[in-house]
Amino acid sequence: MSFTNLGLNESLLKAIKDQGYDTPTPIQKQAIPVVIEGKDVLAAAQTGTGKTAGFTLPLLERLSETHPKMHKNQIRVLVLTPTRELAAQVAESIKTYGKYMKYSSTVIFGGVGINPQLATIRKGVDIVIATPGRLLDIAGQKGIDFSALETLVLDEADRMLDMGFIHDIKKLMKMMPQKRQTLLFSATFSSDIKKLASGLLRDPVLVEVARENTTAEQISQVVHYVDKSRKRELLSQLIKTNDWRQVLVFTRTKHGANKLTKQLEEAGISAAAIHGNKSQGARTKALASFKANEIRVLVATDIAARGIDIDQLPHVVNYELPNVPEDYVHRIGRTGRAGQSGEAVSLVCIDEHKLLFDIEKFIKSEIKKVHIEAFTPDPSIQAEPIQNGRGGGQKRGGGNARSGGGSRNGENSRNRNRNKSNTGNKQDNNKEDVKKKKPQNSAAAQIGARMQEKLDKLDKRDASTGSVSKNNNRRR
Ligand code: AMP
Repeated sequence: MSFTNLGLNESLLKAIKDQGYDTPTPIQKQAIPVVIEGKDVLAAAQTGTGKTAGFTLPLLERLSETHPKMHKNQIRVLVLTPTRELAAQVAESIKTYGKYMKYSSTVIFGGVGINPQLATIRKGVDIVIATPGRLLDIAGQKGIDFSALETLVLDEADRMLDMGFIHDIKKLMKMMPQKRQTLLFSATFSSDIKKLASGLLRDPVLVEVARENTTAEQISQVVHYVDKSRKRELLSQLIKTNDWRQVLVFTRTKHGANKLTKQLEEAGISAAAIHGNKSQGARTKALASFKANEIRVLVATDIAARGIDIDQLPHVVNYELPNVPEDYVHRIGRTGRAGQSGEAVSLVCIDEHKLLFDIEKFIKSEIKKVHIEAFTPDPSIQAEPIQNGRGGGQKRGGGNARSGGGSRNGENSRNRNRNKSNTGNKQDNNKEDVKKKKPQNSAAAQIGARMQEKLDKLDKRDASTGSVSKNNNRRR
């Protein structure tokens, strides 16, 4: 099947051709026609599946079909994303596919001045891509008017909830017209996401791509057991001996990312860190240098790495394993994108054996262990509790996910959410909430029942694939 049968106009087809894509990915095949039709969509899609084009292409198509007169502060399409990086990348995608079309778009996120953003929206903008915190600030100043909003997209909705944006999202929803198209993309379907989806979507079309076994097929995974104190040395050796040119390395903490970057630089390997305590300018610059192959290593924390989209990123290294198994899948999903092959290497010390066990249980497969003679772990070293960098190295005072406009404080807020779920079975409580909530009238009841059916279908899929979306693992 080619892109020509999906209902996209010539300008979009030309832009797609320029990108060298001739076949739509499964999510694109399913999503593009229904979004063009104006339907609500609930999409189970991870990054790497081509989901961004899956919604940007049909939205551009819809925009090209009508030309209403825009008034001050009005917008037609809003895309909400959890991080600034993802917002910038969605904007990039819109620019790429919309290059032969007339439209206006802008990106709104925190950490940069608000006034230029207010000035841009004042003129009326077709597409706004925003992180929820800054958008709410702008809305609070009456700097945006949602009355002409046609389509709302929630991209990586699971991450937005993880980062504590739910209240911001709810406040924003209250300002939006009831009659609108809503698209919700999420890699995982926790009870919180389901609750959000049932409140926002109207009789959505469920779009899902068969689980691509992101963790198994395209990405080769290995674990090297190594002592904590020798990880840096092993990483340098791997980079140098294998001549890796572009490596994304994950650390658990911002402090760890800074420290490792410095050490790599000292070892003659060009590196930059990207995390929530870095200024927006520094983050953009680091990412651009990495993409341009000017630096070999980008050291990132989980949140900052969300949405980093680099074509054919060949190597991902887990310098430290993530605390949550699901993050392992997100991390290694940075490589092997859109059918390319990739390599994910995890350096695992004795403290992390339990984390590795949880990850293998979660992905339902054992990761190959490759022994490197010169780095045989010292058997006398005992496991110690894992430090998550709270206090040491983290800036004080963070914690409100929206005041930093996104990931900066999101990292703290996310940890808090997880800590909360350690103390009780929050997910199950939410499930109860969904059940208890009675629809207001019979039409709503019907919509609710249909929605529930769709969500149940997702549950069944998750149960049968043991897939990544088994989000209740977070109960740990
Ligand atoms: P996404 O899942 O949106 O983050 O996209 C993952 C990657 O797939 C991006 O680098 C896109 O440029 C690429 N991509 C999107 N659609 C296609 C397609 N139809 N064929 C090949 N690559 C694609």
